[in-house]
Amino acid sequence: MTDQAITTRTIIGLEIHVQLRTATKMFCGCPLKFDAPPNTCVCPVCLGHPGALPVINRQALAYSMLTGLALSCDIARHTKWDRKSYYYPDMPKNYQISQYDLPLCEHGHFEISVEGDTRRIRIKRAHLEEDAGKNLHDVPGCTLVDLNRAGTPLLEIVTEPDLTSAEEAFVFCTELQRLVTYLGVSEGSMQKGHMRFEPNVNVAIDVGGTEYRTPIVEIKNLNSFKSVRGAIAFESQRQTAAWQEDHDYVLGKVPNENRGWNDDRGVTEFQRPKEAAHDYRYFPDPDLVPVDVTDEMLAGVTARLPELPIARRARFMSEFGLSPKDTEIIVGHRGTADLFENAVKCGAPVDILGKQFVNVWLKLANDRNVPVTDLSVDAERMARLASMVADGSVSATAANRIAEAMLDRRDPPDLLADELGLVQVQDTGAMEAWVSEAFAANEQAVRDALTNPKKAKASAGFLRGKVMRISGGKADPKLVGQLIEKRLSELRE
Ligand code: ZN
Ligand code: MN
Repeated sequence: MTDQAITTRTIIGLEIHVQLRTATKMFCGCPLKFDAPPNTCVCPVCLGHPGALPVINRQALAYSMLTGLALSCDIARHTKWDRKSYYYPDMPKNYQISQYDLPLCEHGHFEISVEGDTRRIRIKRAHLEEDAGKNLHDVPGCTLVDLNRAGTPLLEIVTEPDLTSAEEAFVFCTELQRLVTYLGVSEGSMQKGHMRFEPNVNVAIDVGGTEYRTPIVEIKNLNSFKSVRGAIAFESQRQTAAWQEDHDYVLGKVPNENRGWNDDRGVTEFQRPKEAAHDYRYFPDPDLVPVDVTDEMLAGVTARLPELPIARRARFMSEFGLSPKDTEIIVGHRGTADLFENAVKCGAPVDILGKQFVNVWLKLANDRNVPVTDLSVDAERMARLASMVADGSVSATAANRIAEAMLDRRDPPDLLADELGLVQVQDTGAMEAWVSEAFAANEQAVRDALTNPKKAKASAGFLRGKVMRISGGKADPKLVGQLIEKRLSELRE
């Protein structure tokens, strides 16, 4: 059998936990603070003291519905809370409040573009739950527990096993991060652990029309896009090799398992056999009333659904004529795209704004390591600078210097251009005089321009440079070019 040609297909489903950016926890009023001293953001509810009563966070519910709508899910009109038994020091009440059989969002999909192809990944469900605390292992010989994170609202998004490669999973995760930050439902910070990924991976191996499937491996707790890609690629190869070694390595014969990703070694490592749902002993939480989603609640959330990144990218290309590359950069963040669009509304000519936005503003922001929205240059001043280039009052090069000056001073760009002496001279009389001066000082170049066809173009360019230098950069280069052509044709006659 091993001599026969085999083809393999990787099957991937994702479970993603997204931390919602509410001010307080899921079932109590404790604040969500990332770097508070350990165990300072806790109360009897999130510590799991007996008799403490949880109350649901309405904002977390609204954020989850908004995300569900953006993922084209059906929003349940009736949903409830379940206890998931869980024995571990980071969750002292020994259960996690989650949603089992009636999740808030179901049956959605999310489209991603992978190497030019649009792929539709089905979303099985998205439900709300609370996070656990953190076990800290920094002190040798003991484990400390910080419960500040316990009770943090998480939206768990579960896809159908529709992803077929490590690269697709990577794109899915990055697009999902973009979506949740666009919606404003999560900060989506990887460094702060706001998104944690758990791919389920197995491989379908085809041998002459017979298909074998390897056991499903769940890779636990990945916290970067890079580890998602690395762990899936590794797991796909490992499972294929394991089957080639032993043809009994198939689903049903060998148990599914949980594995962890070792980032330093670039391998997954066995953790334990995978739990089945019945191991968790789910049952409805008697302390929490079910939620009925009213028409009014749903309408309120629907009204807040913004244009989503994929639709916006398509519109920016068709409406503003931006290149795919520039669109990707501008639409990547909602604030950036809003700023661009507002500048267009303020009257900026789109072609010039597009160039300035990427080559000037985003570059200046990048040099200063801040988002472009923090540059203290608003849409109106951006629009004005682009218009000044469009009407020829400053050159594109001069605009770069004006832009830099705009970062330090809130004056209109016109005033700064004037002060910096960068306003282009449109006065034809002055320019004629500069052209005469340049022609008088560069007779050989004038002769070449007139009589040497091989050098004509270069010589005209050389003369234009001379005029620009004489003008101190204030001449409009386009106009200078026209005047030089005119003068040369006069000389030819
Ligand atoms: Zn609390
Ligand atoms: Mn979960």
